[in-house]
Amino acid sequence: MNHDAFLKIVRPLLECPTAPMFESAVREEIKRQLSDIEGLKLQVDPHGNLIAWSGSGQPKNVFVAHMDHPGWQLRPSRRFLGGVPENLQDKGQVQEFGEFGMWDLPALRLDGDRLYSRACDDLIGCATVIATLRTLSERNFDRSVAGVFTRAEEVGFIGAIHLARSQVLPPDATVISLETSKEIPPAKMGEGPIIRVGDRTSIFDPQTTDIFVEVAKKEKLAFQRCLMPGGTCEATAFQLYGYRSAALCIALGNYHNCTPDGRIDTEFIDLGDLEGLIALCIAIAKAEETGESARETLRTRLEARLEEYPLG
Ligand SMILES: [Zn+2]
Repeated sequence: MNHDAFLKIVRPLLECPTAPMFESAVREEIKRQLSDIEGLKLQVDPHGNLIAWSGSGQPKNVFVAHMDHPGWQLRPSRRFLGGVPENLQDKGQVQEFGEFGMWDLPALRLDGDRLYSRACDDLIGCATVIATLRTLSERNFDRSVAGVFTRAEEVGFIGAIHLARSQVLPPDATVISLETSKEIPPAKMGEGPIIRVGDRTSIFDPQTTDIFVEVAKKEKLAFQRCLMPGGTCEATAFQLYGYRSAALCIALGNYHNCTPDGRIDTEFIDLGDLEGLIALCIAIAKAEETGESARETLRTRLEARLEEYPLG
């Protein structure tokens, strides 16, 4: 997907105000953007999560992103929603959107390879799901895949837990969490999307991680393979309820709007990382690899050395 096509998805999405429990503007914008994709069925579950079903069968892969970002509930009482140190919460000016508020920061600013926004986390993940579904449809992808947009992740995976418990998603689907995640070494911004082996809390399905690595190598896509322990993502929530879970992310600067020197400012990402993430999602959706075939490829690669180094 080229730069302009992607910005057509990203810009209106980043302009939607959002906070945990106040995701309706984002959800409406996603519905609008998905409405002209042929063969896509949209469903809003009883908790307000949005599910986009593509194809007629059961989806093998489900790409998940969350629609909220840390922010303020203003009415009926004022409280901060999300993981930001208490001493920083009042450092930013608050822009009001009815019952909730966000820090008064630009929705989108581009500067070279960088994209700055008040809410990269996780509207960039949502944009990635949209871009993946759109591209697959344009390429007449004929297998089933689903995109899920959840609510209230930042206050404890509320939407994801309701969705996992409801078993709306098929039990044998692989749930793939898409995130922007705090840049922590060895992950490096600008060096490609990250195949996330786990998060602060869990390790994800190893065979699925193998598949992702094999797919990225086959497609010659730059990638990093890291734990990303800066936060817990929705893959952990789905895994707790029995789903095979995996995660992909890109490195995020100023995680949750907190700068290294203790101010509140825009988050930022690298546009090349984002393009890579979309390409990887598309490749994963199309891949024929199974956990067993990915293991077999690795075994064959290692066994090739046995003859070179005979042990008698
Ligand atoms: Zn977050």
